[in-house]
Amino acid sequence: MISCYIGLGSNLNQPADQLRAACVRLQTIPKSNLICTSSVYRTSPVGKLDQPDFLNAAVKLDTKLPILSLLDTLQEIEKTQGRIRKERWGARNIDIDILLFGDKTFSYPRLKIPHPRLHLRMFVLTPLVEICGPSKRLPSGFLLKQVIEKCPSERVEKTNIRLLDN
Ligand code: ATP
Ligand code: CA
Ligand code: CA
Repeated sequence: MISCYIGLGSNLNQPADQLRAACVRLQTIPKSNLICTSSVYRTSPVGKLDQPDFLNAAVKLDTKLPILSLLDTLQEIEKTQGRIRKERWGARNIDIDILLFGDKTFSYPRLKIPHPRLHLRMFVLTPLVEICGPSKRLPSGFLLKQVIEKCPSERVEKTNIRLLDN
């Protein structure tokens, strides 16, 4: 099993329900176990500013799937939830990004691991550090807390929205 960290984001069509639906589907991925979910955070859009706030969260998934099969599966979930607008950084029902895959790095045309913009985004780093802790070492050799110290600050508010009943 490899421990994989995944980032979730939504700002369209009942974002809290979109995140919950994605988590339910993540629980059904073959050869994988959903280990935990972060809190849900309310964050301002970046890149393209004239769109609703996002809800963001991170989850830990232990998996035996090869990385590209995992990507295929996650993209199927995005499609199932009606993600149609393919505009980068635009509004979407659901965005599911692989952030970390064990301590591995990949650089395929359709998949870069660690996620190439991870270190620039507090809306990803905040839920991530909640579930993997500040002493997590990234493939770059830096600790997660060091990456967070260098990241530009942005608005990230913790909510009391719950992702899974437990
Ligand atoms: P960003 O990549 O900056 O977060 P985005 O999530 O809005 O932007 P998408 O339109 O969702 O971008 O994805 C564009 C492509 O990125 C996908 O089709 C996928 O092949 C590729 N991709 C590369 N690395 C990853 C990764 N680590 N996780 C998910 N998709 C990735
Ligand atoms: Ca993304
Ligand atoms: Ca994406």
